[in-house]
Amino acid sequence: SNNKEDVGLSGRVRVAVRLRPRNAEEQVSDADFADCVELEPELHRLKLRKNNWDADTYQFDEVLTEHASQKRVYEVVGKPVVESVLQGYNGTIMAYGQTGTGKTYTLGQLGDEDDSARGIMVRAFEDILSGVSLREDTVTVSYLQLYMEMIQDLLSPEKENIPIVEDPKMKDVQLPGASVVEIKDYNSFVELLKVGEANRAVANTRLNAESSRSHAMLVVNVRKLVRDSSEDLNNSENGETLFGSKDFSVPTARRSKLVVVDLAGSERIDKSGVIGSSLDEAKSINLSLTALGKCINAIAEGNSHVPVRDSKLTRLLRDSFGGTARTSLVITIGPSPRHRAETASTIMFGQRAM
Ligand code: ADP
Ligand code: MG
Repeated sequence: SNNKEDVGLSGRVRVAVRLRPRNAEEQVSDADFADCVELEPELHRLKLRKNNWDADTYQFDEVLTEHASQKRVYEVVGKPVVESVLQGYNGTIMAYGQTGTGKTYTLGQLGDEDDSARGIMVRAFEDILSGVSLREDTVTVSYLQLYMEMIQDLLSPEKENIPIVEDPKMKDVQLPGASVVEIKDYNSFVELLKVGEANRAVANTRLNAESSRSHAMLVVNVRKLVRDSSEDLNNSENGETLFGSKDFSVPTARRSKLVVVDLAGSERIDKSGVIGSSLDEAKSINLSLTALGKCINAIAEGNSHVPVRDSKLTRLLRDSFGGTARTSLVITIGPSPRHRAETASTIMFGQRAM
């Protein structure tokens, strides 16, 4: 068995950095200034400018420039995780960064107007559908929002505070009452995401919250029948086969899940003057992102103990961390020199995950 090797390879978090192109406003207002970063994608390096003549250099698993297509981003950040989910392992894809740097564009873009602009969620779902056999396998979807340490069901918005039940034996996370919708085709999935987004907007208006202040979490559960033509079963010691035929195979159900997390904006919420963000909101986001950072650091350092208990976000992700689970983190940054401090802090979060 090469299980041990699998754990070693996949226990680590793969970290990509993605730079958003300058937007219309930045093209005008920052016209006289260079970007705060310079990318060397072939060398997997990013340089963060300190001043006109000096820069700090950081290494990432992947460096995605402002020219990287959505397809390329999916291939680098999403596809390896999706492939391992189809092999039966849990996988997580997360986007971390300041509000406005492209987390939702990277993960959630539907591509209604421009198919090539489709983001990771829909591309991942498409690959999952083609990797299963819908006659016997099942794919279900849940869509949740985490706001102020409350879990809301974006597919059943009346459910505003879903409890987490953890089974210590199963190492599994249960969300009693949360909607679990079986999906059999791509278009139904896109429609479900739209319903979820609409519900999110309604819930956030009622809570007087912006979506940048909450985490959105898509959970795709895959149950796949596997015909394991096991040597043990079919070839007994004396050369006889147990069931008379070598081809006889017993299907077993294999479960795995893909979790895609569009994290709350990482902008420093402890500094004064953040508009539209209450102190409680700020504390809650700090709490969950700090807890996430600690868990990711623990995985990166190969600690067998991952401190998941500190926040609902990390408790929800507990069966996605470490072990055979595969995790991909994309940190998103903007080019503007005005946001250099936020960009630096996002880069440090990504570095600590490696
Ligand atoms: P976030 O979710 O991090 O707050 P968004 O994904 O909403 O950021 O992106 C902010 C704006 O920038 C959106 O209008 C989005 O379409 C645009 N944008 C982000 N990344 C890119 C990109 N790589 N290419 C083109 N436009 C982008
Ligand atoms: Mg967003």
